[in-house]
Amino acid sequence: MKKYILALDQGTTSSRAIIFDRFQQIIASSQKEFTQHYPHPSWVEHNAEEIRDTQITVAREVLEKAGLTASDIDTIGITNQRETTVVWDKNTGKPISPAIVWQCRRTAEYCKKLIDDGFSEMIRQKTGLIPDAYFSATKLKWILDNYPQARDKAVNGELLFGTVDSWLLWNLTGGKVHATDYSNASRTMLFNIHTLDWDDDLLELFDIPRRMLPVPCPSSCNFGHTMPNLFGGVISITGMAGDQQAALFGQTAFDKGDVKNTYGTGCFVLMNTGEEPIISDSGLISSIAWGIGNKVCYALEGSVFIGGAVIQWLRDELKLIPSAAESEFEARKVDNTNGVYVVPAFTGLGAPYWDSNARGVITGLTRGANKSHIVRAALESIAYQSLDVIFAMKNDVGTLCSINVDGGASANDFLMQFQCDITDIPLVRPLCVESTALGAASLAGLYTGFYESLEYLKNNRKIDRVFSPKMDDRHRNEIVAGWHNAVNKSLTT
Ligand code: ADP
Repeated sequence: MKKYILALDQGTTSSRAIIFDRFQQIIASSQKEFTQHYPHPSWVEHNAEEIRDTQITVAREVLEKAGLTASDIDTIGITNQRETTVVWDKNTGKPISPAIVWQCRRTAEYCKKLIDDGFSEMIRQKTGLIPDAYFSATKLKWILDNYPQARDKAVNGELLFGTVDSWLLWNLTGGKVHATDYSNASRTMLFNIHTLDWDDDLLELFDIPRRMLPVPCPSSCNFGHTMPNLFGGVISITGMAGDQQAALFGQTAFDKGDVKNTYGTGCFVLMNTGEEPIISDSGLISSIAWGIGNKVCYALEGSVFIGGAVIQWLRDELKLIPSAAESEFEARKVDNTNGVYVVPAFTGLGAPYWDSNARGVITGLTRGANKSHIVRAALESIAYQSLDVIFAMKNDVGTLCSINVDGGASANDFLMQFQCDITDIPLVRPLCVESTALGAASLAGLYTGFYESLEYLKNNRKIDRVFSPKMDDRHRNEIVAGWHNAVNKSLTT
């Protein structure tokens, strides 16, 4: 009886591998950072071969650490940074260009033109997305437009496109399987989330040959198996999902209305909206959460670009704190921010504002403002930005009962209590905050029967702490109004 599942968590800055047991406990993990390339201001690239190689290395390392072999692993689940675009030669297996990362803004002008030319509504209705450089379609178009003969080769079937899940799957299976899952496909801006197929109108709009695209599949299904030489034995791959959707699954947010917020570099709030997508009136986007069997579950999503990253900024640029964890201690030295607000719009503001030209501001400074006030205001800005997204969600769907939290900054009790207070909604922090990897393992294990059912996964979830709201309405309304005044000073539109 195989006792473990291997989750491959291919993130934006590092590749990780985690082994889970039947009770969803972490047995071992391994992590390796890889190079970020910034060839021009606002451009971000990765080397897809480095992504693949670091991912295989950590998978081998984690097996060794745990003293396991391929024959101990029931199956593999993959989760990945989303939207990042790879194009490779089918015959040589070599990428024809650097991978264009989700953060890369090189196609922002083109996206603005799409909006000006009136394509927003069509794109929104088909894909659930708002036209933006964030998604894969315009990145793929850019590669086909800018590399010699790329489009001709793609038309001839010599080139393949994939988001990072597809790229890894193709490599792990020795070039046998070119597939993706619905959750990743729904972030390309080429995928029709109603028909569950690549959309011909969008392929025509972006001039993308259909034959270079991967086969879209449910997130929990038989994707193939690894080449025997990779891990010293064949392992099946039966789960795949984009990182935020995987985190929603890992949080066992299986029911319509369930919400999670991941506090990492950015913050990503996702709500399970059940079997129907919601086309937002409030600046949020809709994606596929996952497909299991012949059922698809949709999610409403809002993202905050600068979440935990504002704490890194305090640490690395302002040098106000020695470590991210120290922010809590510093913030607790004062009772409030003394009217100071930090709006960390370093790269513009995402949902629900979508102002890419907005820039950061600190408001309400007086002679009495000190380091603690600024640190506290920066921490609070993570919660306020999440609040704006959660408000937008409430606007679209009504009441929210509770919010499941995870990610590095969810360890900060001050931040969690403040978030809970200003949203007036209880927060639930699970014991295992590795929701992303856990979600990938769960999707994979559900397919093989390693995890017998959704109920089994729910029953196995252990809660670390529940935060309950403690702030009175008057105070909450006052400080939230102050935040919105500060945001208005950072907006350009
Ligand atoms: P990612 O997966 O995006 O790399 P993580 O989930 O690992 O992010 O979280 C790291 C982020 O969380 C960093 O931006 C860091 O500044 C922030 N962070 C980590 N610990 C704390 C803490 N105790 N308080 C506030 N922020 C924190």
